[in-house]
Amino acid sequence: MNNVKKIILVSPRGFCAGVTRAIDVVLVAIKKYGAPVYVNHEIVHNKHVIEDLTDKGAIFLKNIKDAPKDRPIIFSAHGVSKKITNYARNNNETIIDATCPLVTKVHVQAKKFYELGFKIILIGHKNHPEVEGTMGQLPVKSIYLVETVKDIDNLNFNENKKIAYLTQTTLSVDDTQNIIVELRKKFPNIKSSPKRDICYATSNRQNAIKEYANKCDAFIVVGSKNSSNSNRLVEVAKNAGCLNSYLLENADSLNVRNYSSFDTIGISSGASVPEVLVENVISKFQKNYSLEIENVSLGEENVQFKLPKKVRNQ
Ligand code: SF4
Repeated sequence: MNNVKKIILVSPRGFCAGVTRAIDVVLVAIKKYGAPVYVNHEIVHNKHVIEDLTDKGAIFLKNIKDAPKDRPIIFSAHGVSKKITNYARNNNETIIDATCPLVTKVHVQAKKFYELGFKIILIGHKNHPEVEGTMGQLPVKSIYLVETVKDIDNLNFNENKKIAYLTQTTLSVDDTQNIIVELRKKFPNIKSSPKRDICYATSNRQNAIKEYANKCDAFIVVGSKNSSNSNRLVEVAKNAGCLNSYLLENADSLNVRNYSSFDTIGISSGASVPEVLVENVISKFQKNYSLEIENVSLGEENVQFKLPKKVRNQ
């Protein structure tokens, strides 16, 4: 067994601007309105964040109908359908929308295409809250979900009709590109958003892993099982040539002995993952091995989003 391990710590990693904003919304709402505040769905997909905010006074709901009328209700970073927005408007006194502005941008574009008479194809993962929120901006039969290239066969639109596609913000850039290529073959005049819908944080984390994963014998992406962007990062690491790539919730789920035969281990984290979880994973390795840590980066991120008006300047 090799007692010396090299850790390649890859950046950009961890919190994106949309996640930072969504967590701040909950914290400021608790300060302003007192506990409890209610959140429709998990504010972001990370177990540690949810447990921490629960301790501070947030209650996360699977069904918005369980929110009491007189307490604030917060929409998660993934966004919500029109049906949920309308329900909250009729039933909740205080609504705070923590939808990431980059998800809202996709909603706005969906509505623009619809008003211009386009049939819309959304590339994304079924049952993901962001996809439900985006599809739920429009009437059924005006927006169609495509998860894989195979689904394109089921789209029976006249190719001369006005057709546009949009995507979920946290998809694999490469897989999505393959789907887009096939869509263009079937519908040569298909339109898209003026700028790519996959967000800057998703692209940056994937590009960084693509660059460095092939230098590693194993790769760890710290992130929760239900986090779309974290799961995509594991796929990217494998596709980049590091077949021993794994998603790890936190240091508790790390069995260091599983890494005994690997000399170089890459580490990154999803956009909803606090840095402390990465630090804890490294500490656990440090207790068992002598580490040489190399920090590598494909560039700085300096995106910031303003808080929604209701919780600004508190
Ligand atoms: S991953 Fe992208 S779209 Fe999702 S919250 Fe972060 S910045 Fe927004």
